[in-house]
Amino acid sequence: MTIKAMTIAGSDSGGGAGIQADLKTFQELGVFGTSVITAITAQNTLGVTDVHPIPVLTIEEQFKAVITDIGADAVKTGMLYDKERIEAIADLVSRHQVTNLIVDPVMVTTTGSPLLKEDAQDTLIKKLFPLAILVTPNIPEAEAILSKKREDFDKLEDMAKALYHACGGVPVLLKGGHEARAEFMTDVLFTGQTSVLYTSPRIDTTHTHGTGCTYAAAITAFIAQGVKLESAIFKAKEFLHVAIEQAKPVGEGAGPVHHS
Ligand code: PLP
Repeated sequence: MTIKAMTIAGSDSGGGAGIQADLKTFQELGVFGTSVITAITAQNTLGVTDVHPIPVLTIEEQFKAVITDIGADAVKTGMLYDKERIEAIADLVSRHQVTNLIVDPVMVTTTGSPLLKEDAQDTLIKKLFPLAILVTPNIPEAEAILSKKREDFDKLEDMAKALYHACGGVPVLLKGGHEARAEFMTDVLFTGQTSVLYTSPRIDTTHTHGTGCTYAAAITAFIAQGVKLESAIFKAKEFLHVAIEQAKPVGEGAGPVHHS
């Protein structure tokens, strides 16, 4: 049986993040990948120079074309651009009864380019998060969702618990990669009942372009294969660690993590 995963996200012409990272990750993990492109970015390792949103109708048609024929054992979302597109995607996901939805609440690139309009955050939280089995914010995204700073919480675990409530009671994976000067990278999963800590040694590199996309795509691939959430995250973190270790010296800026 062929296992299938779908990504609903933006295109990164530089091949390091977005749709490209997702499809490479699916392929590497032995899952057949399909895509619904929400926006096209002109981008390289130095930054984003242009963003072109795809018409809502074309987003809907891509989704319907894939879901009615190929199907999807799990679906992930990345860059969704604005309110209108989030609403359309939330509607598609609920109408077609997507059960394994992983939402990566992509907001800005590491180089500072916005990938989500500021007034769209509320729609993301209210309309899309409730449909997910997991939301995967990094620390800056968690700060935006909570309107609080990392320093307002003693432990990362406390922040993950607050996030769980702010996300409407959906399991959250708070990614600690942005913790200053940490020797180990710790991510926290809070499911409402339990917290699970995932720790790996920090790799000293600036070549981390596409890290968030790759991590969420790997979790999606393992979920599509029927792996339980806690183990899917563990296996995805292992995959990501190797991808960062093997990041490619491509371009003049932040090189992409390596997917194969
Ligand atoms: N470009 C697109 C289309 C993305 O979806 C994302 C992240 O989700 C990025 C860029 C971010 O890349 P970076 O890892 O450099 O922050």
